[in-house]
Amino acid sequence: MAEACRLAEESVRNDWGGPFGAVIARGGEIVARGQNRVLLTGDITAHAEIETIRKAVQVLNSEAPSIAKNRRRDSTLELVPRPEGSADKVPERAKMLMGMEIYISGAPCPMCMSAIYWARLEAVHFSSDLEATSAIGFDDAFQYEDFNRPFEERRIKIEQFRPDLGAEVYDVWLAKSDRHPY
Ligand SMILES: [Zn+2]
Repeated sequence: MAEACRLAEESVRNDWGGPFGAVIARGGEIVARGQNRVLLTGDITAHAEIETIRKAVQVLNSEAPSIAKNRRRDSTLELVPRPEGSADKVPERAKMLMGMEIYISGAPCPMCMSAIYWARLEAVHFSSDLEATSAIGFDDAFQYEDFNRPFEERRIKIEQFRPDLGAEVYDVWLAKSDRHPY
């Protein structure tokens, strides 16, 4: 957590972004570091957690972006069985960042929390809570609230459009005999 907060402070002092830093660790060893770089890059998604997950993926998938099929066992794409009692219909999924934990200087926004789910991280440890983050001018609490509303009541218009086109490409995925679940 000290390293996550050091990264957060570094970002502020260098004018790279907001006061947010993160590290991903496995068994007490740091695998990847990241910090908010929204101001440095103009990239809205350059939050500390996203940067850190991407860095961990680069470290763990040295062959990326085109991981050879015979090397997948050594990568985040390694297949592992779903936990017992899982409602998931797919028996195996890619390991991603299982067995790792993330330490964040501030509680995650919904985008980062979603990335954490996709990454299959085991635990999230944050220093400042959402209330403290809101108090310094970063308000994402409304996003958590919006997710709880049906589509027609959300702040941003969201609607289904041309479902036939999406169905066609889903069929391409289903027809692919060697598709890799993740
Ligand atoms: Zn975020």
